[in-house]
Amino acid sequence: MSEYTIKQLMRKNISTLVPYSSARNEFSGKGSIYIDANENYRDFVGEKGLNRYPDPQHIELKREIEKVMGFLPQQIVVGNGSDELIDLLFRIFCVPGKDKILMMSPTYGAYKVFADINDISVSYCPLKDDFSIDLERLESQCHLINTGTIEHGIHKLLFICSPNNPTGNSFPLEQIGEIAKRFRGITVIDEAYVDFSSIGSAKALLEQNERIVILRTLSKAYGLANVRIGIAISSPEIIEAMHHVKYPYNVSGIQQEAAIGALRAQKEVEATIKIILNERERVASNLRNFSFVQKVFPSDANFLLVRVDDPTLLYNMLLKKGIIIRNRSSLRGCYGCVRITIGSVSENNALLETLTQLEEIL
Ligand SMILES: *Cc1c(COP(=O)(O)O)cnc(C)c1O
Repeated sequence: MSEYTIKQLMRKNISTLVPYSSARNEFSGKGSIYIDANENYRDFVGEKGLNRYPDPQHIELKREIEKVMGFLPQQIVVGNGSDELIDLLFRIFCVPGKDKILMMSPTYGAYKVFADINDISVSYCPLKDDFSIDLERLESQCHLINTGTIEHGIHKLLFICSPNNPTGNSFPLEQIGEIAKRFRGITVIDEAYVDFSSIGSAKALLEQNERIVILRTLSKAYGLANVRIGIAISSPEIIEAMHHVKYPYNVSGIQQEAAIGALRAQKEVEATIKIILNERERVASNLRNFSFVQKVFPSDANFLLVRVDDPTLLYNMLLKKGIIIRNRSSLRGCYGCVRITIGSVSENNALLETLTQLEEIL
């Protein structure tokens, strides 16, 4: 167990912060005349309420999230994409130039970018060849239980992305729980792809461990990448700090409306997930038949990591045909690999047909 309280893990200026209170924070009922926020009385674009500040607490959206995902409104922060929530965690917990974070490699690139922006150094724990977590290495070289002190800096955040991007595999929930229990800082479990996973969510861990943050997004399974909605779920102190540090109006009314719409389309979302999962297996088994494909890694997400003879040639050849995939071959642990998102049935067919045409030169 951590010997530090959540307050002690925070930057001092955050644990003592007096938060800004906006007009719409101080009044949240229903009025008939709003002359409290210096807004314009007119909306020049239409009757969409664009002239009014949005709900800074995202109350209606949180109710919808509760219905669909089962989290309580008081456990939730809504962000402008997961990106904002990741950045918030850095700004709440990590002291620039002093603290560190711990993450797996390869994994999602954003953690490192936000670490750099916040002047926080990164310790990497390379995944094993089968992309499972190397527990011994995490304990020894990576100092899961590190010996530093709060005064001199410690690993404040540990990022576990499950299913992991770009490798596609999930980590066992008991393993994540055990790691989070032993880690002294805050464990962030990024579940961007959990809707495609057969292993499911780590949410039960929240009940045993108040130093866990789960991240969700509406960018993938819910089809709202353009809208920018991320969701963090955690314990009261962490959720309170995230509310205090976020911009008051971080998510616009238009975003909130779109998010509510997608969550209310849950049946269609689930039907589409089923199609994507079927397609994932179909595309994977078809890819295995190509001579230039060395390995299609098992996936618990909506994409496939594929090791091929010449990833850069494959990338360029597909690009010429207007098909864009992601070349991941320069990432440590991903040599020879490209990442392919599962599209619609006809998009996947087009990919497979194009690869058949190109097989001779690949
Ligand atoms: C796509 C993705 C996200 C989503 O980020 P948003 O900012 O919510 O669009 C988060 N984490 C991982 C690992 C991802 O691959």
